[in-house]
Amino acid sequence: MEEEIAENCRICDNATRLKWPTYIPDGLDSDCFAITNAAYGQTSAIFECNSCGFRQCNNLTEVLSFYEELEDPGYEAGRKERSLQAAANLRRFAKFKPGGRLLDVGSGIGMLVEEALKMGYEASGVEPSKWLQQQASSRNLSVIRGTLDDISETEKFDAIALIDVVEHVLKPIDLLVQIRNHLTPDGMAMVVTPDCKSFFGRILGRKWWHYRVAHIGYFDKKTLRMACDNAGLEIIDQKRPGWYFTVEYLWVRIMLYFPKWLRIPSFAWMSRTVIPINLRDSLVVIVRRSED
Ligand SMILES: [Zn+2]
Repeated sequence: MEEEIAENCRICDNATRLKWPTYIPDGLDSDCFAITNAAYGQTSAIFECNSCGFRQCNNLTEVLSFYEELEDPGYEAGRKERSLQAAANLRRFAKFKPGGRLLDVGSGIGMLVEEALKMGYEASGVEPSKWLQQQASSRNLSVIRGTLDDISETEKFDAIALIDVVEHVLKPIDLLVQIRNHLTPDGMAMVVTPDCKSFFGRILGRKWWHYRVAHIGYFDKKTLRMACDNAGLEIIDQKRPGWYFTVEYLWVRIMLYFPKWLRIPSFAWMSRTVIPINLRDSLVVIVRRSED
């Protein structure tokens, strides 16, 4: 039996209990944390809060070093559809905050920064992975290597994007408080994260594609709202974002749900064809600073 680490809920501070034991057959390395990693259902032990239902991995106590060493060529290869994705997120955000200084936290290879520049934002980003940050720099995008800790507290932004990041951190409330503190008085942030109580999250259970090593916190509508409240952020809009994928990306991943002998390889046209899809299993919220 693995050792269970007792830790209270990272959102509401009540007790947590073991829901699913660890399942990582091949051990833990930086590849497990790759954005395109497809080892769905492989996670450290998942604990569930007795009070709010937030799910978290108590046994992974240090994850930043995995991101610092992360290399993910498959992610760079998916630049086209991820740019479409970034643009769609920004169009949603622009209805609330159409310009100004924008910071993308966890900016990867800089696609959102690039799209934001095109839309007229004064955009920059911060990214912990050396390799991803270098990809962004090589495209002359203003992305520094590090985390929000590396940005002076006096620096303020009109717009902050936190896309698929909050589920990766050990202290989500602290991260959201940092976001709040970096916002100008009328600034706004956009937070995107998977919803573990969505239809697919519920019916697929642990086999849901968002159960993966790199995700150490699992939100739903209620717990995301609680986290924002606790961090002094008020939600002013909430939706379910769609995504852009190549048909090949989807095909390969759908095939993983079939037994090996039934899997059909992808065809060449699939890698050239990008389609929008909304599985309604993520959340996007627009937040601003709550009144003090
Ligand atoms: Zn809780």
